[in-house]
Amino acid sequence: MNNPSPYSSVMKIADRPNLVFVRGRGSWMFDDQGRQYLDFIQGWAVNCLGHCPTQISQAVSKQVNTLINASPAFYNNAMLKLADSLVQHSCLDQVFFTNSGAEANEGAIKLVRKWGQLHKGGASKIITFNNGFHGRTLATMSASAKAQFAPLFEPKVPGFTKVLFNDLSALQQAIDPQTVAIMLEPIQGEAGVIPAELEFMQGVRQLCDQHDILLILDEVQTGIGRTGSLFAYQQYAIEPDILTLGKGIGGGLPLAALLAKGKFCCFAHADQGGTFNGNPLTTAAGQAVMDTVADTEFLAQVQHLSTYLREGLMQLSATFNLGEVRGSGLLLALETGSLDANVIVQQALQNQLLLNAPRVHTLRFMPALNVSEQEISQMLEKLATILGSLITAVSKVKAI
Ligand SMILES: *Cc1c(COP(=O)(O)O)cnc(C)c1O
Repeated sequence: MNNPSPYSSVMKIADRPNLVFVRGRGSWMFDDQGRQYLDFIQGWAVNCLGHCPTQISQAVSKQVNTLINASPAFYNNAMLKLADSLVQHSCLDQVFFTNSGAEANEGAIKLVRKWGQLHKGGASKIITFNNGFHGRTLATMSASAKAQFAPLFEPKVPGFTKVLFNDLSALQQAIDPQTVAIMLEPIQGEAGVIPAELEFMQGVRQLCDQHDILLILDEVQTGIGRTGSLFAYQQYAIEPDILTLGKGIGGGLPLAALLAKGKFCCFAHADQGGTFNGNPLTTAAGQAVMDTVADTEFLAQVQHLSTYLREGLMQLSATFNLGEVRGSGLLLALETGSLDANVIVQQALQNQLLLNAPRVHTLRFMPALNVSEQEISQMLEKLATILGSLITAVSKVKAI
């Protein structure tokens, strides 16, 4: 090749725009041309305190000069401290740290299968839900029910039964003696921000109790303050048996976690592990996140910002005759009616606004949890301009 593209050495796994980002601060990210973008994706709801927050920079700088990796064969201070704070702030008793949400879910799948072997005559089937998303390892893709995944990488890992979300009677019918667990997201994120209804979630908990099967909540996206409470399950007045966390927990660093009630922590030595798991560098970042987010005032502010963003989106929806606004905390979605959400995302990028469209007619908003009202207003203004120009364009086409 004479003129190789500067991007040619990187595997093509997504339709990335030809932009290179070099720097970030709070709700803003900068490209190598010096352009400034308002970021309402935040690395897929990962930078929960925005780009390069002081708390995380300081915690990581300190840790990087103290101890980076002690070996998974040894305890380290940062790991112990973060496990303690997660246990103190949740209904779970023990933690296994991982490097990604998929790996935490993979661990949850292994844990319930182990429990099924020990306590439920080898039951191994896990019920998951249509349009659910649990990750991109082979087992978590098999647990997911994204339509695009269906034909890929056959054969899938067996043992997952898919049921309609928010349909309690379908769920009830799917339970059989081979069932060991039910696994779901309290708000299906990739599906387009679809919340589990209160009655449904409480019904799932009841079914689990009646049939002696385990409830796994995948809070990789909804956990760590994203929905306005530290964990989304707290808004349903139920307790999961197993909980997975990821994304926001590392504040941008690769950290995730599998938490379980004590009686379900049945891994024997060597059943589970990983070279980087529980390393002091990422768990120190996690601690900085928990010290900030697990605070009632901080969470109250997230709820306040949520109302502010929701009201702004509802106004846009009314002005431009769009659809529903849903979700909770700072995980909100706007239905775009007949407008293609991917076109809006492209236009937003041109206007230096980073947005995401999980579905063809759905925009998703997942700003930093400490985004300012002013930044939310700026985003809404930019979006209003884009919607205005798209709708004018559509009506011109119709007039012709
Ligand atoms: C992002 C996500 C995952 C996968 O996490 P990775 O860190 O990308 O492996 C799993 N479950 C849910 C609900 C997610 O949103």
